[in-house]
Amino acid sequence: MDPKKLVFATNNPGKLRELQSLARGKNLVVEPLSAHAPKLTWEETGDTFLANALIKAEALLPHTPWPVLADDSGLEVEALGGRPGVHSKRFAGEHATDEDNMDALLRALKGQPSPRRAQFRCVLVYAFSHGFQSFEGILRGEIIEERKGQGGFGYDPIFQPDGYQRTLSELSMEEKNLISHRGMAFRRFLDHLNDELIPS
Ligand code: IMP
Repeated sequence: MDPKKLVFATNNPGKLRELQSLARGKNLVVEPLSAHAPKLTWEETGDTFLANALIKAEALLPHTPWPVLADDSGLEVEALGGRPGVHSKRFAGEHATDEDNMDALLRALKGQPSPRRAQFRCVLVYAFSHGFQSFEGILRGEIIEERKGQGGFGYDPIFQPDGYQRTLSELSMEEKNLISHRGMAFRRFLDHLNDELIPS
């Protein structure tokens, strides 16, 4: 069977690397946005992860004959009432870097007793010309006091998943994908694809 072709609507190289690694060996080709609509941008104006994932998917769909994948994800911190949530990328301001966002989060949590409970949430949308499906994944853990590790992206250096003494930054990409919110949403999407491809 020919591989199923998809385009991933993200400008985040960390997410693209993770998704391409998750798709390896699954008879899927996941092409980057740059191969189909290199100048495409969008405004993430939604109040929910699903709304923002749909904005990305709908922006890309007219530029490719292939179905698209789009995810929106973020960090929900219990002591902050679920913030930064959909604003995770811009927690420290419009053009904030990952470093700025981590500094802002550690400042906001100063004095909060451990464990500072938090979760990553990912909503992955699979969209095609006549509709879409969405899949969610969650990874629970805590925000530690100081950065540890070099890998990953975003808040990885200060997020320690439940059951681990290492941060996401200290895990290999394969280890992170096995437990992550994006990995869980992607595996749910794969289950759906397999159901769709098996004739009933
Ligand atoms: P967006 O989905 O592109 O709007 O941005 C999600 C933001 O949430 C990222 O820029 C990161 O700050 C954060 N985030 C989402 N997933 C992860 C992850 O796997 N590790 C660390 N940070 C993440």
